[in-house]
Amino acid sequence: MTIVEALARLERGEITAVELTQQALARIDEVDDKVAAVLTRLDDRALAAAAASDEKRKNGEALGRLEGIPFTAKDMFLVDGVRTTAASKMLDNFIAPFTATAIKKLEAEGAILIATVNQDEYAHGGSTEYSAYGPSKNPRDIGRVPGGSSGGSAAALAAGIGLFSVGTDTGGSIRQPAAYCGVVGVKPTYGLISRFGVVAMASSLDVIGPFAHTAEDAALLTDIMAGQDEMDATTIKSEKVVSDVVSPKRVGVVREYIQTLDADVRVRYDEVFAQLTKAGWELEEVSLPNLEFALPCYYVLTPSEISSNLERYDGIRYGSSTESAGDLEAMYSATRGKFFGPEVKRRILTGTYALSAGYYDAYYKKAMQLRTLVCQDFERAFSEFDILIGPTTPTEAFKFGEHSADPTEMYLADIMTVAANLAGIPAISLPIVGVSDMPLGLQIMAPQKGEAAMFGAARDAENILQVQLAEVKL
Ligand code: GLN
Repeated sequence: MTIVEALARLERGEITAVELTQQALARIDEVDDKVAAVLTRLDDRALAAAAASDEKRKNGEALGRLEGIPFTAKDMFLVDGVRTTAASKMLDNFIAPFTATAIKKLEAEGAILIATVNQDEYAHGGSTEYSAYGPSKNPRDIGRVPGGSSGGSAAALAAGIGLFSVGTDTGGSIRQPAAYCGVVGVKPTYGLISRFGVVAMASSLDVIGPFAHTAEDAALLTDIMAGQDEMDATTIKSEKVVSDVVSPKRVGVVREYIQTLDADVRVRYDEVFAQLTKAGWELEEVSLPNLEFALPCYYVLTPSEISSNLERYDGIRYGSSTESAGDLEAMYSATRGKFFGPEVKRRILTGTYALSAGYYDAYYKKAMQLRTLVCQDFERAFSEFDILIGPTTPTEAFKFGEHSADPTEMYLADIMTVAANLAGIPAISLPIVGVSDMPLGLQIMAPQKGEAAMFGAARDAENILQVQLAEVKL
């Protein structure tokens, strides 16, 4: 069920918020032993909110734009009084002392948080295999990963747990799992949505965004979460950014993304491009030659920012800590050694190295220069095209263990998503039919603050493509 459909049913009195919430919670009982998407259930909190929502509706009070709609949130979002782990043992017992702005805005519109969901530890990864609480499974094939890092969000939604989810995207963590699980995922313009109360990964790239079943639902959620926040100085003015969607005229197909695809995957995208062309889209191939530097650039800048952001987990301020016999330094290293997982440590080490005095110029500064080149490529492309399209990922969801032996193989799955984060531009992934029964993602990118064009194109593409994915059987 989409949000729009559920709102109509609530409005007609065919279902209550309590019933919708009970259904979502019952779905956890039914399928989560197979999917393992959920980390912390919030049954009591959710049912109380649902009852209050029904009461409001009964009394004819003013209703929110998401009144009575159940949802899940990646475990990066702080919710007052609720355990927030970022899927790390470092935050195993951490209870949030306040609520993230994005969650506050959703709840202020009547949405009902039913559970927090799984992810890679601190959002480092692309499969949920790096979660300290074990991986989630792809509901379309439980032998495959749901993607990551927001894999629990995509898996929960695809499995019918809640009607939307919220995640974070630093290099593809919303779009890639959306593509792997066959749902819509949005990475908005950098700064569009406040990150106050959300665990930081790499602050010059992190954004928050929704998972939904349709572009229309996703646009509504983006619109609700957007807005300046005095608690996040990077937030931008958002009037009209997401409202008044427009149809795109000039559409560029990113050459560097399609030319590397395997032949059978390429066929699927060519079919989609042909359908769009037949419906009147004017597609033209465009080259962004510096995209080849995006992935190495991302994997220098991101660990650098991670090494700085994760300094705060020292065993003293908050989070887990060890008793250590030695001095303060020994206590820091015992705590960080014990509670951080291997991928988190790898990134802290790489980042510290790239920022160190002797290597700063060779690595960090070089990566910053490459970032500028990538941004300039997008500026050039958007002077000619309203939107750019291409695949979200090079392949369908991979099998467990396929990329976990060599970390750089896992990094390669991000090759088509990281550039949008480097450039701060919005991008959406829409489900299309894949080679097998698994889905693939069509990625649509727009210039900064170009959400209206992005959502307009997404809506049109959905109408043209009429995608029917294989049914989820659990
Ligand atoms: N998979 C990417 C990484 O490992 C993206 C992570 C993210 O967007 N949070 O860094």
